[in-house]
Amino acid sequence: MNEPGPRSASRNTISWTTDLIDCLIVGAGPAGLTAALYLRRFHRSVVLADAGLSRARYIERSHNLPGFPDGMPGPELLGRLRRQVADVNGSLLETEITGISARPGGGFEVRTADTSIEARTVLIATGVVDKAPILPGLEEVVRRGLVRQCPICDGHEHTGQRIAVLGDGPHAQREAMFISHFSRPVHLVGLAAPALPSGDGERFNAAVQDGRVKAYGSPVAQACLQADGSIGLELRDGTALCVDVIYAALGCQPRSALAQPLGAEQDEVGHLVVDPHCATSVPGLYAAGDVVSALDQLAVAMGHGAIAATAIHRHCLESAPHPEPAARPAALPRMAAARPSVPQAASVESASAR
Ligand SMILES: Cc1cc2nc3c(=O)[nH]c(=O)nc-3n(C[C@H](O)[C@H](O)[C@H](O)COP(=O)(O)OP(=O)(O)OC[C@H]3O[C@@H](n4cnc5c(N)ncnc54)[C@H](O)[C@@H]3O)c2cc1C
Repeated sequence: MNEPGPRSASRNTISWTTDLIDCLIVGAGPAGLTAALYLRRFHRSVVLADAGLSRARYIERSHNLPGFPDGMPGPELLGRLRRQVADVNGSLLETEITGISARPGGGFEVRTADTSIEARTVLIATGVVDKAPILPGLEEVVRRGLVRQCPICDGHEHTGQRIAVLGDGPHAQREAMFISHFSRPVHLVGLAAPALPSGDGERFNAAVQDGRVKAYGSPVAQACLQADGSIGLELRDGTALCVDVIYAALGCQPRSALAQPLGAEQDEVGHLVVDPHCATSVPGLYAAGDVVSALDQLAVAMGHGAIAATAIHRHCLESAPHPEPAARPAALPRMAAARPSVPQAASVESASAR
C-alpha cells in the first residue's frame, strides 16, 4: 500500500495519495500538539486539525508548569509546541472537525466542512469550555484578569488575599473549601441562589462553622472595579463586600460531542472515559487532555498526549506492520508555527445571574 502523502494542501483542503493516515488528532492544544510531536517522531503520518480555541491561550503566565521557573505564558507555550511539531514536519489543518464515523473496513472517516480524511486512529484532544458568570459590572473585572478559573493553577499567587467564590450548589461549596487552604475566610456568594450551608453536608457546614468559608444568604447583584484595584460586590439584600480576586465556580463543558455518535463512554459531566493508555471504549479512538476526566492542567494534558501517542503507535504496529524506513511517510503539509493570538475575554460559554 502506498504511504499517505499530500497532492495538494491549503488552509482548509487536503487530498491524499492513499486512503488512510495513521492518526488524525482533533485539537492542537498542549495535549494534541504533544501527541503530534511523539507520533511524528515515531514516523507516523499524522494530521492535526484545530479550531484555534485552546484554553491555554488565556494563560497570562503559568507558574506551575514544571521546568519554567520564570513562568510561561500560554500563547508562548503553544507557539513553542507548534514550532517543535513543525520541525518534525507535523501537519496542521486550521479548521473545525464536524463529524467522525467508523469506516466499514476499520479506522475512521473524519469530516470538515469541505473535505474528509480517513485515519486508522483518532485522538480527541478537544478540551473543555469554561462556564463564566455574567454579572453587571463584571466585564471590567474580567478584563483586569481578576476573575480566575482554576485555584490549582494560581491559588498560590493569591495566598492571603481576600477571595470570593461565585457559584451555586455543591461544586461552588467544594471550590470554596479547596481555596480556603490559600486564604480564609473565603467569601462564597451565590449567583442564582443564596450560598447557605446545605449541599456538601457536614464538611461544608464544618468549614462555615470554623470560619474557613463565609457563606452569604443572598445572591450577588453586581460587581464593580474600585479605584484601588479591589473588587466591590453588592448582594441583592444590600450587603457589600470587597475582595482582591474572584474565582468563578461554574464548572465546564467537555467538548466531547464528536465522540458521542461513535458510542464512546462518557461520565456524567460529558468527559470521555479512558483507560490508563488514553484509549476510549471505542477501539482506535483515543482521548487526551481536559476532555478526559482528569486534572485539567497543562502538565497532565502533555502527559496524556505522550501516553496516547505511544498507545496509538503500538495500535498501528499491531494492526498494520510499519513500512521499511525508506518508505516512511515524507513530509505531509507542513504546519504553521505561528503564535496563537491572545483573546480579549476569558469566557466562551456563560451562565447568568438571575
Ligand atoms: C484562565 C486559565 C488559566 C489557566 N492556567 C493554567 C496554569 O497556570 N497551569 C496549568 O497547568 N493549567 C492552566 N490552565 C488549564 C490549561 O489551559 C488546560 O489544562 C490545557 O490547555 C488543556 O489542554 P488541552 O490540549 O486538553 O485542551 P485545549 O488547550 O483547550 O485545546 C483544545 C483544542 O481543541 C480544539 N478543538 C475543539 N474542538 C474542535 C473541533 N471540533 N475541531 C477542531 N479543533 C477543535 C480547540 O479549538 C483547541 O484549540 C488554565 C486555564 C485557563 C482557562
